[in-house]
Amino acid sequence: MLKSFDFLLPTKIRYGAGILSVLGEELRLLKAKKVMVITDKGLVNAGMVRKVTEIIQGESIAFLIYDEIEANPKDYNIEACAEKAREEAIDTIVAFGGGSPIDAAKAVAVLAKQGGKARDYQGKGKIKDDCLPLITIPTTSGTGSEVTFSSVITDTREKFKFTIKSTAIAAKTAIIDPELTLSVPPIITAATGIDALTHAIEGYTANCTEPIAEAVGLYAVEFIAGSIVEAVKNGRNLEARDRMMMGSLLAGLSFSHADVASVHCMAEALGSIYDAPHGMCNAILLPYVMEYSLPAAEAKYARIARAMGIAEKDDNKAAVMGIEHIKNLSKEIGLPGIKSLNVNCNDFELLADMSVKNGSNESNPRAITKDEYIMLFNRAYNDTSN
Ligand code: NAD
Repeated sequence: MLKSFDFLLPTKIRYGAGILSVLGEELRLLKAKKVMVITDKGLVNAGMVRKVTEIIQGESIAFLIYDEIEANPKDYNIEACAEKAREEAIDTIVAFGGGSPIDAAKAVAVLAKQGGKARDYQGKGKIKDDCLPLITIPTTSGTGSEVTFSSVITDTREKFKFTIKSTAIAAKTAIIDPELTLSVPPIITAATGIDALTHAIEGYTANCTEPIAEAVGLYAVEFIAGSIVEAVKNGRNLEARDRMMMGSLLAGLSFSHADVASVHCMAEALGSIYDAPHGMCNAILLPYVMEYSLPAAEAKYARIARAMGIAEKDDNKAAVMGIEHIKNLSKEIGLPGIKSLNVNCNDFELLADMSVKNGSNESNPRAITKDEYIMLFNRAYNDTSN
């Protein structure tokens, strides 16, 4: 018998090349009078934020740009931005960027209305429904944050990435336009792409998954594995960008309804201590966690391998070949190993401790202890093929 589950999708998805043009219509539907565009300096300097503000201006809606959001958004970014939103009587937020501005915007949507500090809302169920309405516009194909119910924020005092989780922070509308990713540099395309692949694999295999999350997760693997190399090597190929964007969206739907698992537990610990790019951390750890989890997930890993184009009938052989394929894929698209983050092996105990305490630890298909996390960090570090 299938266990019972809920599948909520509070976000309207508007998808397609050029679909950014519907932003005005969506703002009108929300009756927006004063908009805050939450983004980062990289996107302002690249001239991309203008595409958004021109549309808002065209609707004669007042707006301001908040571009102080850093990568792995920090607690103080959120608190300063929320204060500005309150001072300026902002009634609608447009999040424009990768996962960092989108996650920041979700937390700001809460704090601007409900006050307090970001950390007050850690975990599930701390948020009332009364948040500022949010439109998300992703510019990377990676996090799926445009449709997920979570926001990952760095507590800078404790050096710890924590998650706020509630359907109340979900965007009202996600405007998902693959044209916006044509300018993403190769290394960011590679790291964010493996982030999406990790979401798909963990969403499909998590202990708490269900058939809808499994279905979209497995289909996401096909989209991502089949287009990531082309998207990295020929970033102007809109078809490859389109397939990556769809893969990232499906992967986001998968893990937000299931969960992520041990790759993310380890990657978030690495990101917390070394402020390293999230997708890069996932890419570094994904094959080692898969090797560890294989005995508990063989049949599913075999299907993942086949979704990546590996035609092997025996499940164990297919699963092993799939993991090898992922290792090679990361190398082919230029992603470095764990040593590139200048990690200190003395930190492995701390990193393992953080991993085991992560809220998604229980979701890994094979149970895992602190000592096993230490072993996996060492395995990634000592892999001479990196
Ligand atoms: P990011 O948002 O930190 O962006 C990385 C860099 O890419 C930035 O310098 C940015 O300016 C640049 N960039 C973005 N779009 C660009 C474009 N179109 N052209 C050129 N440059 C562009 O990176 P990310 O990987 O998208 O997000 C990572 C964050 O998302 C992490 O903090 C991670 O924890 C979080 N995350 C959240 C969820 C969720 O469901 N909430 C899921 C996974 C990851």
